Amino acid sequence: MPPTAKRLASLSESVISEMNTLAKQYGAINLSSGYPDFDPPAELVAAAVSALQKGYHQYTPPWGSPRLRQALAEKQSRFMGLEIDPEIHVTITCGGTEAMLAALGAVCDPGDRVIIFSPFYETYTADSLLLGLAPLFVPLRPPQFSIDPHELRHAFQSGAKALILCNPSNPTGKVFSQDELSLIAELAQEFDVVVITDEVYEHIIFPPHKHLYLASLPGMFERTISCGSLSKTYAITGWRLGYVIAPPALSQTARKVHDYLTLAAPAPLQEAAVTALRFPDSYYRQIQEEYFQRRQLFLGFLDQAGLSYTPPQGAYFVLVDISPFGFEDDFHFCYWLVRERGIAAVPGSSFFHEPVTHLARFNFAKRLETLQQVGERLARLKSPA
Ligand code: GLN
Repeated sequence: MPPTAKRLASLSESVISEMNTLAKQYGAINLSSGYPDFDPPAELVAAAVSALQKGYHQYTPPWGSPRLRQALAEKQSRFMGLEIDPEIHVTITCGGTEAMLAALGAVCDPGDRVIIFSPFYETYTADSLLLGLAPLFVPLRPPQFSIDPHELRHAFQSGAKALILCNPSNPTGKVFSQDELSLIAELAQEFDVVVITDEVYEHIIFPPHKHLYLASLPGMFERTISCGSLSKTYAITGWRLGYVIAPPALSQTARKVHDYLTLAAPAPLQEAAVTALRFPDSYYRQIQEEYFQRRQLFLGFLDQAGLSYTPPQGAYFVLVDISPFGFEDDFHFCYWLVRERGIAAVPGSSFFHEPVTHLARFNFAKRLETLQQVGERLARLKSPA
């Protein structure tokens, strides 16, 4: 057998993908992977059809179509309270996933240390392996997931080059407070660290919480790479449209990674996405309300089933305590759940660096009818099959 790269030997198949496969195999309701089961706004679908008919078939400039960058810069300037220049600061990528890799690749050399809060979204550790980086995990302990300032300072002291901040957080649903963000900002400035944010859930926030953009804090635009995506906000995870917003030097370097990695995101979908970015502010209020309704319904079913969980402050995931079921670990629970109860969830341990095996992650970005069906299945969860 020809040899394969040693550095990837420890990288296993994505647990989320494995659970998707099992969901299909058992015909289960899939609450594992974080995508919605409803369509994007009809206007957006029409814009995609029209873009295909109007001849947007060839490469756009690598940084993204000028029209899309302009529309994105306008929208993000409005929400972030910053002046984003589409020519200098914005790069359109193939999803938030590529944005994160381009950002990390722009900041870190092989061997560099990168601070990752645990639990984390699995891409960050995979990216670290791909780029030969050394992750430094800072635990956010369940059920509160708050930062221990001493642990965080200690991580900065050990010579980190970058910190990854997923806010609102996948998988915890945590929305970082102003104080927590200020602490991260102060440490990043003291230790000359770049913060790479993953803010793909920026518009899915539950009252009274508010999303604050780290790049908007004093002194932080210069040292923040803000990664985002259109996937969640417009229910188009399969379109693979993400972006990097960064100050000039970081932006230029992230563009190099992006250019040689994927060259450009799909042209017709970039053109169609201009329509999405020009939606009025009422669109964002509406999706917040809809997500709040889904959240309330799903959490109500968990309550009725007598399950405990950490109430999500944002994003569309909830970590549920599965210890009352008495399974050996979260994998055994999730395999049983998908096979015997027809619900696919993700074993929580796949998000943790520490040995935490009593949680499972459920995605509630689903139609209310789907959630009703889940509710019926959850009600029978503890009874024999
Ligand atoms: N970001 C999504 C999640 O956390 C999708 C990931 C995936 O499908 N691998 O579920």
